[in-house]
Amino acid sequence: MTQKVIIIGSGPAGLTAAIYCARANMKPIIFEGSQPGGQLTITTDVENYPGFPDGVMGPELMDLFRNQACRFGAQCHFKEVTKVDFSGKPFKVWVGDDLFESESVIISTGASARLLGIDSESKLMGHGVSACATCDGFFFKDKHAIVVGGGDSAMEEALFLTKFVSQVSVIHRRDELRASKIMRDRATENPKIEFVWNAVVEEIHGNVEDGVSGVTLKDTINGEERDFVCEGVFLAIGHTPNTSLFADQLETDDNGYLVTRNGSSHTSTDGVFAAGDVQDHIYRQAITAAGTGCMAAIDAERFLESQH
Ligand code: NAP
Repeated sequence: MTQKVIIIGSGPAGLTAAIYCARANMKPIIFEGSQPGGQLTITTDVENYPGFPDGVMGPELMDLFRNQACRFGAQCHFKEVTKVDFSGKPFKVWVGDDLFESESVIISTGASARLLGIDSESKLMGHGVSACATCDGFFFKDKHAIVVGGGDSAMEEALFLTKFVSQVSVIHRRDELRASKIMRDRATENPKIEFVWNAVVEEIHGNVEDGVSGVTLKDTINGEERDFVCEGVFLAIGHTPNTSLFADQLETDDNGYLVTRNGSSHTSTDGVFAAGDVQDHIYRQAITAAGTGCMAAIDAERFLESQH
């Protein structure tokens, strides 16, 4: 049976698209992927989502989105899409050996945390190295951790870690933070947070049994290297769009983000739409992702009407 719409990914963009598609009687199927609910499920308090004046926990917010979509008949599957073929119609979407066909597809696969790309980082990931303070901060009670990065994520991670650790050192490659003023102020005012400027992590020391014992920092001005003692390394250096499934099938920009046309959700293939962080490297907010999810659903609905 050919579906009207398949939604790949289940963050604010995918689930908002599901709400709109379901209410438009398009009977959407959503493949939620490896992180159902998306990046908000690894966040704690969301303070800037309109309608929640006292804040809301990220996972709870995504459960509310999902419940709203299901109420109108959206089918959520906790499965991961493994292959797509957009070269002909209907579009083909595989989950392992199972093939699904659809007249339209909405892609909302989001973005994933970027890594430094050094061997010791992958070796010690989960053993003192983490890309998610919310997930792993608890394990660093009364320890000294570092956070790498100078953006809002780095400030958020550092502030969150202060609930557990004895000290956080933010390691930034420049001497000026990219983070917004409010996050910058909160971090600089926190007595547990110190800043190490003009430094990058060259190496992470430790082993799988005992965790991290320190890092080698390189000064980005004079190139000098020095050892820095710490017991945890949290990476907060931005994100990479989850677009490998669509390589060579849809147009992407230089950084791999899906290209959408003229302020719409249309990708380079008619009938395939993109919403959320997978196509947005500028705003990257839950509310903007939800907004583009709504756009994608409306674009898909109009596309289907134009085909019949
Ligand atoms: P980001 O703004 O791109 O910042 C990434 C940071 O990592 C930058 O400071 C960058 O340094 C540094 N960096 C990148 N690659 C590096 C490398 N290889 N080695 C060392 N440092 C590296 O990413 P983000 O902080 O994840 O934020 C993404 C978006 O989400 C932003 O729009 C942000 O405002 C938003 N956000 C908002 C909140 C909030 O409001 N609560 C929380 C989190 C994120 P440079 O500065 O030198 O480029």
